[in-house]
Amino acid sequence: MLLKKGSQNQKVRLLQERLGKLGYNPGPADGIFGPKTERAVLDFQREKGLSMDGVVGAETWNALFGQAPIPSVPLLERPPSYRQCFDVFGDFRLAGWREQNLVRCDLSDFSRELGHIYLGWLSEEDKAFEHRTWFGFICHRLAVPHFKAAFGLLVKRGLAGQLRTYDGCYNVRYMRGAGQWSTHSWGIAIDLDAPWNRFGQENFEMSQDVARCFEENGFIWGGRWNRPDAMHFQYCALR
Ligand SMILES: [Zn+2]
Repeated sequence: MLLKKGSQNQKVRLLQERLGKLGYNPGPADGIFGPKTERAVLDFQREKGLSMDGVVGAETWNALFGQAPIPSVPLLERPPSYRQCFDVFGDFRLAGWREQNLVRCDLSDFSRELGHIYLGWLSEEDKAFEHRTWFGFICHRLAVPHFKAAFGLLVKRGLAGQLRTYDGCYNVRYMRGAGQWSTHSWGIAIDLDAPWNRFGQENFEMSQDVARCFEENGFIWGGRWNRPDAMHFQYCALR
């Protein structure tokens, strides 16, 4: 792969976004490698001691993306704001991000209480995973303790029986009706009982008691939104 002046593609856009995030000025992230982007690449190469040719080959690309910033916080005490998600949870669009960040949230401790929940709309990752023991799902490693705490509280309060389906967590996509990434893209949101709590459904069935188990553990519940998304819980503030 070589990106240079004149290149036009999605990788150029990633490059521009990355350069911008690192404090360089590649111009707008429009996917077009113009003079400003070349200038920014040259600046980056100079500062990193790379050969200054203004061309992004493997060496420069790896210097830019190789060390994907791994959050230093082992445990998030409170959910970040939406704006902080790329910094805290990383960039799910980059190669290697999934391997570095997605893990299985193992809930088999609660298999007795959660074992009746069946799998609804599964993501490809979930399908690929061999569900040997109920119950677990693929999510961001930093969200694991919070998901576990929420399900633990649910079990402790005897509410687990209210849940019927698990409908997905990690799933890279845009937010419905909004031009921004869904929190599912980082694997920090979960959908539960989707068939009875559809997006926009006003008379949803998700109970406040169940929702509170998540909210008390830092999750935002979509059931409180103007346009309810009552199936949805995310470990991230709205803005
Ligand atoms: Zn959702």
